[in-house]
Amino acid sequence: MKAVIAHGEGDLRVEPVEPVVVSPDRVLVRVVYGGICGSDLHYAKEGRNGAYVIKTPLTLGHEVVGVVHDIGPAAETSLGVGAKVAIHPARPTPLPGGVHGAGFNLTPGGSYLGSASTDPHTQGGFVEFLEVTPEQLRELPDSLPLRRAALSEPLAVALHGIGRLGERVRGANVLVSGAGPIGCLAIIALRAAGAGRVVAADLQGLPLEVAREVGADDVVRLGAGERLEPGSFDVVVEAAGVVPSLVAALDAVRPGGSVLQLGMLPAGPLPIPMAGLIAKEVTLFGSQRFDVELDAAVALLAADPRAEAVITQVFGIDEAKEAFACAADSSRSSKVLINISEDPEK
Ligand SMILES: [Zn+2]
Repeated sequence: MKAVIAHGEGDLRVEPVEPVVVSPDRVLVRVVYGGICGSDLHYAKEGRNGAYVIKTPLTLGHEVVGVVHDIGPAAETSLGVGAKVAIHPARPTPLPGGVHGAGFNLTPGGSYLGSASTDPHTQGGFVEFLEVTPEQLRELPDSLPLRRAALSEPLAVALHGIGRLGERVRGANVLVSGAGPIGCLAIIALRAAGAGRVVAADLQGLPLEVAREVGADDVVRLGAGERLEPGSFDVVVEAAGVVPSLVAALDAVRPGGSVLQLGMLPAGPLPIPMAGLIAKEVTLFGSQRFDVELDAAVALLAADPRAEAVITQVFGIDEAKEAFACAADSSRSSKVLINISEDPEK
């Protein structure tokens, strides 16, 4: 079987790996689709994702769906062989008493598929057969195609972020700054949370087309003569993870408004003019991965076929390098999937 493995900076390979025999308490999933995430791109290009540096070869991928292939004799699951599943990428290591009531996305020491945050690294899901615990499985409804279900994990991330804003979203005038995959999934989450008006801003044309398709009321193409009215949005969702986008967010939010930092910012000190945050009494929210939102993401994807517009390309596993190059180019792609093994629905 094959896997997509990052060996370090600029060194991504599709390589054969040893077949897996299922452990007694585990389930073996035949992975059908994997979505390429910004963190996968960072590992492939820079050999690191923020603070997490690749020390040994790392199979990438944490946005994966597939079908149950084999079940260990002691695995406690009601699912049968052939069931369609999304995989929860996290396996928390609960601390005694928990961490100040925080969700398990904030629990230190937990593992996440395809991440160098743990030592040894947690190998990811861009592999034909992946062994997981029964708790990591989420059965997909018949009405939800595997292909669309590959958006479950990033949509859960968006739902978690929008959930951080609580009641501030209902009826609000919202700007999504950065209309890449996570920005577009945030639009879907904002719609579900009852936002009043959603505007998407981006430098590129294609992300804004996708934003329209998933429910943005209006789009603003920055750098093309269009600009945002300062102080005009109740809520701004920063979804690009770049300094100019956060600067624009702080400028565009109204006095007393809120900014959600959903994009992953670079590590280290950043030049951000923060005085406006004080003068306008802006509330700034951070958001880390997700906690309990995966089931809600699956349900929302089943209910909203428009989400499919976020998937712009699907590559075979042997074309993984091309897939990564495409995913890194936001002028021609939104979410790029790797088709890892045969889709039973095709
Ligand atoms: Zn992701």
